Amino acid sequence: MRGPPPVPQNKPRSGRKLEAIKEQSYRVCEIFKSIQGEGNVIGRPSIFVRMYGCNLTCTWCDTKYSWMGPEKAKEGIDYVRMTPKQILHEISEVDASLVTITGGEPLLQPLEQLVKSLVEKGYEVLIETNGTIKPSEELQELVNIWSVSPKTSNAGFSIEYGELEWLQNVKDYYLKFVVVNPRKDTKEILAFLQERNINTSKVILQPDGTREDYVNAVKELMDFAKEGLQLRVLPQLHRLVWGHKRAV
Ligand code: SF4
Repeated sequence: MRGPPPVPQNKPRSGRKLEAIKEQSYRVCEIFKSIQGEGNVIGRPSIFVRMYGCNLTCTWCDTKYSWMGPEKAKEGIDYVRMTPKQILHEISEVDASLVTITGGEPLLQPLEQLVKSLVEKGYEVLIETNGTIKPSEELQELVNIWSVSPKTSNAGFSIEYGELEWLQNVKDYYLKFVVVNPRKDTKEILAFLQERNINTSKVILQPDGTREDYVNAVKELMDFAKEGLQLRVLPQLHRLVWGHKRAV
C-alpha cells in the first residue's frame, strides 16, 4: 500500500505585518452550513470551509473528493481560489458563530490570514487536522479549538507522529480516532496516548463512517467500550441523520 508523501511544514511569519503581505488565496473545495457532527462541539451549528488537498490517503476517508487525483484537479471544478475577503463575504449571510476549517488537510495551506480575519469578525474558529503538520505559533494562538485526528494503521499506511507537544500551548483541543476494529485499534490508540502522555479525557473514538451498516459499527464499538475501556465514544451525528452524503 502506498505510504503518505513527505509532510510539509508551515513556517511562522513572525515579525511581518499582515498588511504588508499580498492577500493570500486558498484552494477551497466547498463552503456550507450544517451541524457539527463530531467531537466536543457535536450538535453546534457551524459553517464549514473545506480546503482542497491532503497529504495522506486514508482508505476509509469519507471526503476523498477533497483530495483524490490532485494532479488532475481543476480550478473551478474541484476547487475554487478564494481570498479571506471572499470567504468572509460568502459566509456573512449565514447565521452561525462557529467556523470549522476542514479538508482534506487544511494546514497544507497557510491559514493565518484567513483565521485572523475570521477572529476579527468575532467568529469562533475550529480547525480539523490530521496532526502531521505543526501549525505556526501565530495559528496556535489564534485558533479557538483544535480537532486533531491522528491516523493508526487501520488507515492503510504506517506513519510516525511526533510528540504533538504544541497542543499544550493552544486554547482548547481534542483528539479524535477512527476505529475499524475495536480490540486491535484501541490497543494502538492507548499506546499512542501513553507514549505522548496525553490525558484520555481529551480523546474521542469514532466508528468508521464509511461502513454501510453504520449503526452496527457504533454498537460494536460501544459494546466493546462498556467492558471497561476508559475512552469516550461518539458517533458522527451527521452520518446517523443524513447518511454518507456530501456537504452535510
Ligand atoms: S487525513 Fe483526513 S482528509 Fe486526508 S485522507 Fe485521511 S481522512 Fe481523508
